[in-house]
Amino acid sequence: MRSWLAQYAMESAASLDEALRLLAREPGKWTPFAGGTDIMVLLEAGKLPKRNFLSIWSVPGLREIVHSPDILSIGALSTYSDLLADSILQSEFPLLCAAARETGALAIQNRGTIGGNIANASPAADVPPALLVYDATLEIASTRGRRRVDYARFHTGYKQMDLAADELIVAILLPRGRSDWKQTYRKVGTRRAQAISKICFAAAADIRDGSVHDVRIALGSVAPTVIRATSAEAALRGRHLEPDTIRTARAALARDILPIDDIRSTAVYRHLVAGNLLEGFLS
Ligand SMILES: Cc1cc2nc3c(=O)[nH]c(=O)nc-3n(C[C@H](O)[C@H](O)[C@H](O)COP(=O)(O)OP(=O)(O)OC[C@H]3O[C@@H](n4cnc5c(N)ncnc54)[C@H](O)[C@@H]3O)c2cc1C
Repeated sequence: MRSWLAQYAMESAASLDEALRLLAREPGKWTPFAGGTDIMVLLEAGKLPKRNFLSIWSVPGLREIVHSPDILSIGALSTYSDLLADSILQSEFPLLCAAARETGALAIQNRGTIGGNIANASPAADVPPALLVYDATLEIASTRGRRRVDYARFHTGYKQMDLAADELIVAILLPRGRSDWKQTYRKVGTRRAQAISKICFAAAADIRDGSVHDVRIALGSVAPTVIRATSAEAALRGRHLEPDTIRTARAALARDILPIDDIRSTAVYRHLVAGNLLEGFLS
């Protein structure tokens, strides 16, 4: 371990109010610590920029999945295993469960949280493309009250997000009613498990009489943030699914993404695979 633990402080909040009060009293001083699976990697690497951590792991009420008729609310502390154990998520939001199943291995799935995955803001994270496809909204709390943000607007640049230092993500809200859409989720990595994505693709389409009534397409690892492929979506909406439409959508997707060469892959490969995954889904 390349960090000296005595240099770090950890407080544990017993309630959401207590956590928010501490964050508000000294904004920026305390870093929320949920499952700690991203934070501990930085600790091990000796790269933790901050010294004070606020554990929210035991805060009651943030680990519930609440089913109401129109919306499903997922507490930010829900782990991947919690998501996989929920039968409504399994039947109505299969892309989210596919992403949870592909995230790390069992230890990470038991400890890593959905809120931590979002706030870690990695463009290569596996759950966010599914959240974009499902038009997720984030519920964010501080001592100033609660507010909601469309997840599609939350990430504002590489590791930048619409979250103040005194705020916590408390829930992720998913509108229900799309379980009959055609859906697909693909994570492409070096191995079948325990690999960071070279590219991650999630899509859902409402197909009526062979035409695309509505569609969502989202990708990870192809831009500074996870993205919705809005040009490709526009090229498909209202169109009959035929080879010409698919070619046009593929060309539009190439304009939506901005992949780079990095240690995991190349921009050329990511462009090619993104197009292939879209074409495979539409075909
Ligand atoms: C071996 C290994 C394999 C992994 N595999 C994958 C993978 O396949 N796919 C993938 O996407 N990720 C993977 N991860 C990354 C990680 O497990 C996930 O991002 C996880 O969901 C993070 O959640 P956490 O609760 O552990 O976050 P933490 O480490 O506790 O926090 C991460 C960041 O989020 C902030 N934060 C946490 N919760 C909140 C909140 N409620 N409100 C505001 N800020 C908050 C923290 O301050 C911190 O900045 C892997 C990690 C490891 C170590």
